[in-house]
Amino acid sequence: MSETDKLLRVFLVDKQLSGLTARLKAAERFLGEQEKQLSQLESAKVTVDAQLKQLSGSIANHEGEMARLDARIEHLRTQMNSAQTNREYKAFLTEINTIKADRSKIETIALEQMAQADGLRAQQSEIDANREDRKKVRTVADDERTKRAEEIRERVEQMKKERETLAGDVPGSVLSAYQSLYARREEESMAPVEVQDRKRHEFNCGSCMMSIPVEIVNRLMTHGTLTYCVSCQCILYMDEAATTAMQPAKR
Ligand SMILES: [Zn+2]
Repeated sequence: MSETDKLLRVFLVDKQLSGLTARLKAAERFLGEQEKQLSQLESAKVTVDAQLKQLSGSIANHEGEMARLDARIEHLRTQMNSAQTNREYKAFLTEINTIKADRSKIETIALEQMAQADGLRAQQSEIDANREDRKKVRTVADDERTKRAEEIRERVEQMKKERETLAGDVPGSVLSAYQSLYARREEESMAPVEVQDRKRHEFNCGSCMMSIPVEIVNRLMTHGTLTYCVSCQCILYMDEAATTAMQPAKR
């Protein structure tokens, strides 16, 4: 058996393995997306919580300040009521009015901040609801992934053993060249030669469909050494159809 034929056996197992794990990979991708969205929601929650905490602190400060001003006004009123002169009375009144204006400014700010806080609380509930939904989807996605992994586990183990045996037959340099190709091209790593017209020497690559010189086909048939398509750089092989087509016609 030529090195290309030996390599082909490994390639066919690799292709089956890729096909077998496709659903598992899709399930893993889906789970990954759910986890990403969940962590985005978690960090949005942390941000909103922090904003709300800061805002509540500020509101509490303003409320404290308003209470202090109220007490001050109350105290000035008492003093004003026992004022001895009209001038003294007016002085108290002016001070009270100044404090009232200050208090009103603080109150306006506090009310704005309370409205903002309500907005943040609404955001919190929305994020919480989304998180609950997303957690449910993630649980389903996790189960799906486990199920997919379980249903192919035995078959994958079996095929990996088979691959190991077959790969042991392939020369190391050939195998490593193939493996780096497979990492990039997967199922397009190897392709059969297609015989369009044997007599006119018309051959093409089964992957990129570009023509292949007859010398390359001859070398592949005679020596079976590692042969690349000149156009797409995949590894070429002769499949049964090509081998049959190359047989001289029998009388
Ligand atoms: Zn090609």
